[in-house]
Amino acid sequence: MSLLKFSARRVVSRLGGELKFPASKRLKICIGMARPSSNMADFREAFAKAKHVAIITGAGVSAESGVPTFRGAGGYWRKWQAQDLATPLAFAKNASRVWEFYHYRREVMLSKHPNPAHLAISECEARLGKQGRRVVVITQNIDELHRKAGTKNLLEIHGSLFKTRCTSCGNVAENYKSPICPALAGKGAPEPEIQDARIPIENLPRCEEKGCSGLLRPHVVWFGENLDPDLLEEVDRELALCDLCLVVGTSSVVYPAAMFAPQVSARGVPVAEFNMETTPATDRFRFHFQGPCGATLPVALARHETETVS
Ligand SMILES: [Zn+2]
Repeated sequence: MSLLKFSARRVVSRLGGELKFPASKRLKICIGMARPSSNMADFREAFAKAKHVAIITGAGVSAESGVPTFRGAGGYWRKWQAQDLATPLAFAKNASRVWEFYHYRREVMLSKHPNPAHLAISECEARLGKQGRRVVVITQNIDELHRKAGTKNLLEIHGSLFKTRCTSCGNVAENYKSPICPALAGKGAPEPEIQDARIPIENLPRCEEKGCSGLLRPHVVWFGENLDPDLLEEVDRELALCDLCLVVGTSSVVYPAAMFAPQVSARGVPVAEFNMETTPATDRFRFHFQGPCGATLPVALARHETETVS
């Protein structure tokens, strides 16, 4: 087995991925060898050299903190999933129900904490910052766990559960109130047998800007809505600068990693995927580390022996 591996590696290293093997067995070996490396020592070398690290994170990082996503099998709030309620149409039809859903999600976050992956990222940012190096986190998560962990340079491309936007004047504001308004106190229970008791629209969260009092909505990007173009420009700038990219807890085939990581990879910049499983995009990356990112990231981002300032 080791002989086979050795010869396959030599073939690949001499001729790259261009070789066409006639025998299916040998082809399998060749493809196997072309897969990304899971060699942590090699990743650590790339990490030690990097001056500008971009870390793209997704739902997998939050899942390890027990944050529900309301997507996929078993992910229901009452009889709905996120894609049924996180839409402009759902809000137009029944703002009360949508607010109950978001109120519940906000309240759930009171008992959730950053996990070792969030902490490894924020510690890495602080440490590298002292060395004149830069870390940016680009996240699709809306739960603010990166912020809670201490991450400063953060682009929340899907918005936040703890921001509101006025549907009249457009004002965006941080909001950590619990409950967000008196009428939502004790509401939002997720059990399927709960019947909607529609809260009058004037009692839902309202804008506090002078003379406005418009209906507030969660400042999150809903299904069918576009990302903030200014934020996207910032993401583009960061990705154009980075010399190492990590894709953490997101499948790399779905937006947004599907959009970002390949553009980095195309510049020849090393991209490392940290995920519970391989994805169809895995083969496009230099590194892949399988398993819970709470276990893999602290090792990957720990202080390297060449770092002189800690
Ligand atoms: Zn307003």
